[in-house]
Amino acid sequence: MTATRVLVLNSGSSSVKYQLLDMRDSSRLAVGLVERIGEETSRLKHTPLTGGGEPREREEPMADHEQALRAVADELAADGLGLDSPELAAIGHRVVHGGLKFTEPTVIDDAVMKEIERLVPVAPLHNPANITGIRTAQALRPDLPQVAVFDTAFHTTMPESAARYALDVKTADEHRVRRYGFHGTSHAYVSRKTAQLLGRAPEDVNVIVLHLGNGASASAVRGGRCVDTSMGLTPLEGLVMGTRTGDMDPAVIFHLARVGGMSIDEIDILVNKKSGLIGLCGDNDMREIRRRIDAGDEEAALAFEIYIHRLKKYIGAYYAVLGRVDAIAFTAGVGENAAPVREAAVAGLEELGLAVDGALNSVRSDEARLISPEYARVAVAVVPTDEELEIADQTYALVSDRNA
Ligand code: AMP
Repeated sequence: MTATRVLVLNSGSSSVKYQLLDMRDSSRLAVGLVERIGEETSRLKHTPLTGGGEPREREEPMADHEQALRAVADELAADGLGLDSPELAAIGHRVVHGGLKFTEPTVIDDAVMKEIERLVPVAPLHNPANITGIRTAQALRPDLPQVAVFDTAFHTTMPESAARYALDVKTADEHRVRRYGFHGTSHAYVSRKTAQLLGRAPEDVNVIVLHLGNGASASAVRGGRCVDTSMGLTPLEGLVMGTRTGDMDPAVIFHLARVGGMSIDEIDILVNKKSGLIGLCGDNDMREIRRRIDAGDEEAALAFEIYIHRLKKYIGAYYAVLGRVDAIAFTAGVGENAAPVREAAVAGLEELGLAVDGALNSVRSDEARLISPEYARVAVAVVPTDEELEIADQTYALVSDRNA
C-alpha cells in the first residue's frame, strides 16, 4: 500500500492544531485543535471529515504536549485514522523560526533538531513549542519521517539590503539580529495562487501579498521570490495587528523604561499583547470594530484609520520596491472577509493603477477571486490562504522525492 496521508501539526505554547490530509486529492480526513494545554482543564475539538462522523469535544486535564498528542492520536484512531496506519507517509510540523540556514522544508534528524534549538533565543515564544511537538510526534511514530516547514523559509531570498537593519554590523552579527520575516508558508502559497488566478507563471508575476489576520504581514514577491517583508527579527515589526504595535520608534521602549518605570518584560507584553487594535480601541476583531464604527464609535473609527494608514504605507513602499506590480492579494481572516478594509486600503491609489470594484468586493466566497474592475492596471485579488495544505504539500513532496 502506498502511504498517501500527511498529518500536519502546528504546536503553539499551549495549543496544538492538527489536520490529517490525503495527498491523492488534498482532501481533509480530520481536523482539530487542543487548547489550554497545561491548564486545569484542556479542551480537544476533533472533527472527522470522512465517514459522516460528528464533531467531538473532550474537556480534561492535559499536562503537556505529549498528553495532548496522545489524546489526538486516540481520536484519530477512533475514526479508523490512527497514527499507526501504514497509510501515514509523514508528519509535517510548522516551525516558526528557521533562521538563515533553513531555506527549504527539511526532514528532521538530530542535527536539524539542534539547529532549531539553537534558534530559541530569536524565537523564545514559538520554537520551544514546536520542538516539544516534534519530540512528542517522534515518540509516537519513531519510524516515520518528520518534516519541518519553516515560517521564515520563503523570506530567505530577501536581499541583504532588505534583510539587514542599519545596526552596528558586529553587534547585529554576534546576536543574529536581522529581518527574518514570518507567515512565509502563507506568502508562498498565496503569491503562487495569485499567479494561477491571473493565468500566468509565478516567475512572470510581481505580487504584493497582504496577510491580514490577528497577526499581519505584507510581502513583496518578485517572480515567485520574496524580496521584502514587513515582519523582522520577530513577528512584531510592520503592520498594525490585532494585539501588536507593528512599526514604532524603538526609542519608545527606552522612554517607557526610563520615564514610565516599566520593566522590559512589561513592555514586551504591552507591545505584543496589549497594543495594536486591542490597545487602540479595546477590540481586536475586525467584525466588532466595523460594528462599532457603524454605530458611530469614534475610538473604533480612529483605530481603523490607523490600521489602514499603515497598510497603505506598505502598499506604497512595496510598489516602489517592486517597480512593477501585477497584483495585490488580500488573505487571512481580515483580508479574506473584511471588504471595508480592502476598499479603504486601495482607496485613492488610482494613479498607481489600483482600484476595487464595489460589487465584486462585496461578494462572499471561499474561492480565490479578482475584485478589481476590468480597466485596472493592477489586479486586486482575494486569495484564501491554506497554510496546512502548503505544509502538507511541501512535506509530501519531500518524502515522495526521498522514496522515488
Ligand atoms: P486569522 O488570524 O487569519 O485567523 O484571522 C483572525 C481575524 O480575522 C479575527 O481576529 C477577525 O479580526 C478577522 N475576521 C474573521 N472573520 C471576519 C469577518 N467575517 N469579517 C471581518 N473580519 C473577520
